[in-house]
Amino acid sequence: MRYVSTRGAAAPVSASQAIIRGIAPDGGLYVPERIPVIDGAFIRALGDMDYRSRSVAVLELYLEEFSHDELTAIAAAAYGENFDDPAIAPLRPLDGETAALELWHGPTCAFKDMALQIMPRLLTASLRKNGEERTVCILVATSGDTGKAALEGFRDVPGTRIMVFYPRDGVSQVQKLQMATQQGGNVNVVAVAGNFDDAQAGVKSIFADGDFAKVLDGRGYFLSSANSINWGRLAPQIAYYFSAYCDMAKAGLVKPGESADFCVPTGNFGDILAGWYAKRMGLPVGRLICASNDNNVLTDFIATGVYDKNRPFHLTSSPSMDILVSSNLERLLYCLTGDPAAVRGFMENLNREGRYDVGPALREQIRAEFTGGFCRDADAKAEIGRLWREKGYLMDTHTAVASRVLADLRQREGVRRPTAVLSTASPFKFGGAVLEALGAVTSETGPELVEELAALTGVAAPKPLTGLGNKTVRFDGWVEKEAMERAVSDFLS
Ligand SMILES: *Cc1c(COP(=O)(O)O)cnc(C)c1O
Repeated sequence: MRYVSTRGAAAPVSASQAIIRGIAPDGGLYVPERIPVIDGAFIRALGDMDYRSRSVAVLELYLEEFSHDELTAIAAAAYGENFDDPAIAPLRPLDGETAALELWHGPTCAFKDMALQIMPRLLTASLRKNGEERTVCILVATSGDTGKAALEGFRDVPGTRIMVFYPRDGVSQVQKLQMATQQGGNVNVVAVAGNFDDAQAGVKSIFADGDFAKVLDGRGYFLSSANSINWGRLAPQIAYYFSAYCDMAKAGLVKPGESADFCVPTGNFGDILAGWYAKRMGLPVGRLICASNDNNVLTDFIATGVYDKNRPFHLTSSPSMDILVSSNLERLLYCLTGDPAAVRGFMENLNREGRYDVGPALREQIRAEFTGGFCRDADAKAEIGRLWREKGYLMDTHTAVASRVLADLRQREGVRRPTAVLSTASPFKFGGAVLEALGAVTSETGPELVEELAALTGVAAPKPLTGLGNKTVRFDGWVEKEAMERAVSDFLS
């Protein structure tokens, strides 16, 4: 299967080339030229498989260059003992119509692990398929979660090195400690004196420096990125929608063939787009509910067809959803229109004016497939308290946004359809906000919050987050933003 650019001005490539490149040379995103279609027998067969085999069955439909055995080995390495639940993506029924799909049992306790544990292995296999002999060095600028998940994903993966830059004063103490104590022989973490934009601008200018690329080439290295627009991060996410549906059928939440709704806490639109692919493939998905926090640009877009990022930016207690430009939306616009010139026009408008209008026809198409909703920060916190009191279920701030949006929708419509809420982070990752939501008063700000939440609720904290304060700090250096390239050069000397 070939992959084409959403902007239509780049040549089609193979899956492995799409994974190596990340973004297409015309600035577009790679999408499969057709969406594979499955039948009822495919879903019934998945029902008897474990998560790894389910993921292989879905991935091999998209990655035809990879053999079944190759993908089986990759999935076994990606989804194993590094997850603290053998189900990998367990479904927790909350009542007769609702379940939480927990995507945070991996090594960094957030759903990014579902893709970043497997993507580095897909990338190294792709490099081999294309005869690349140099070592790839992944550069990441992070505001928190992605950096740690990428470090864990690439740590000690042969043929790779990874260097992460984070803003010195722009991440939480837990996030900083998670990165500073990172294990692995091929990793490096450096703070930048500046904010996230400085770190991101620094990384972009390193990528753009052709002379530096030549120097690194002479040393046997080249640079790449692992951000969420890479198809190698999107494809693995399709699998958990299939897995969740099978588990909902097993739990009696849906009858065989009956459709299930999914409610997704959304930022960059990657997670929910994977659900849309699953639906297009033939999985019985009813509605995809796109849940936003106070940064509700997507709610407005689904309602009006106008995407407008000219609005105040809100810092919320669900920071991974504090996003005004949802990059993966470009893939949906392309798939629904099949018209790269139209997509180019929308993206040019977004660059120039910060907005675009898809018009009534496309708006209706989008509304037929997505339901939008948002909730205020205070309401998400109240939802954490409600679920804990009523069901004894502890959820994080991002999951709470989705849970609340679903509850409001059901209230408005007066019907309760079978729905899986995607749970994207461990509540212990955002311990301060969760404690506050439970009415606890705390003076802590650091890793002690993890223990405090465990003590208050009696829920065990995930291993990777306990004892963070006692782990050895390996990376405590920082650089001025002008010195970032020098730091990369030293790392790859
Ligand atoms: C990244 C992230 C999201 C948003 O996912 P997108 O694919 O960007 O829409 C939601 N919750 C958490 C905890 C995340 O880390």
